Amino acid sequence: MIVVMKPKSDERQVNNICEFLTELGLQPHVSKGSQVTIIGVIGDKRVLADKPLEVMPGVDKLVTITDSFKLASRTFKSEDTVVDVGGALIGGGNIALMAGPCAVESREQLLTVAKAVKKSGAQFLRGGAYKPRTSPYAFQGLEEEGLKIMHEAKQITGLRIVTEIISPEFIEVADKYADVFQIGARNMQNFQLLREVGRTKKPVLLKRGLSATVEEWINAAEYIMSGDNFNVILCERGIRTFETATRNTLDLGAVAVAKAKTHLPVIVDPSHALGKSEYVLPLSRAAIAAGADGLIIEVHPSPVDALSDGRQSLTPEQFDSLCKEVKGMVGFLGEKM
Ligand code: PEP
Ligand code: MN
Repeated sequence: MIVVMKPKSDERQVNNICEFLTELGLQPHVSKGSQVTIIGVIGDKRVLADKPLEVMPGVDKLVTITDSFKLASRTFKSEDTVVDVGGALIGGGNIALMAGPCAVESREQLLTVAKAVKKSGAQFLRGGAYKPRTSPYAFQGLEEEGLKIMHEAKQITGLRIVTEIISPEFIEVADKYADVFQIGARNMQNFQLLREVGRTKKPVLLKRGLSATVEEWINAAEYIMSGDNFNVILCERGIRTFETATRNTLDLGAVAVAKAKTHLPVIVDPSHALGKSEYVLPLSRAAIAAGADGLIIEVHPSPVDALSDGRQSLTPEQFDSLCKEVKGMVGFLGEKM
């Protein structure tokens, strides 16, 4: 539920409502707009059933939102959220390009990719140090050594680091090296992990689960935001369907829906969605045209030698051509990069 304050309400009245809600065991979150202040209410609203909230001083109206999420909702905050990662902006017309290998494999591999993607125009370097692999016998990642290599790449190139956290126990160590925590598709409903990253103030890239509805995906964002971390970036990465021609099915409709229903930036991962490098460019174009706030793309210096996801990885040269096209589109659409 959202409490919309009257345009002329004052701070004392807003505080009074917040105290009232807190005493009832609810969590108020105040959002001050240029015209009106609104208060998002989290908790079991049944305690409000016989309370005179609507007639309290300064209250204009109560808006019950049918969506199960609140903090992520456009009803709670109408303007686009712009996530600022050390000066690199995502959302609100700012397009972000994230690129790098599926997994950090070696210093040489990562530094080669980092320098190349930086030159092409990426602002973020992706790379997994902890890999959630389908098989327990597949390469599981270099763990902290991989994070240190990412950090070195950041110092050399200035790229911001995006890396996946697969369990709450790795947050402390990854916090030292990462600029953005990635929550992978397989962990989208790992609620303990979502709560833990919500307690940090670090931006979180939240991938959509393989079989998650848009509502479940946004509710996963809500978990993070309810811990007071509003720096959430949604990422559509393809869902499971009956189609086998591509690894997953890229759901660009979900990008439009998520952008309409939430104020969060939404980016697209065409690499995991399509699973084949030759389809990454056409669907990157489509994602930007559909309103995505950025792309996250797998790039490897030698895809045939990659320890994971080589089939879908672009070479640095292919990524360079993709960047040129995307930059042209961004200018055409009146966005910034
Ligand atoms: C990845 O980014 O390498 C990855 C494992 O992604 P997803 O969680 O989308 O499968
Ligand atoms: Mn991958």
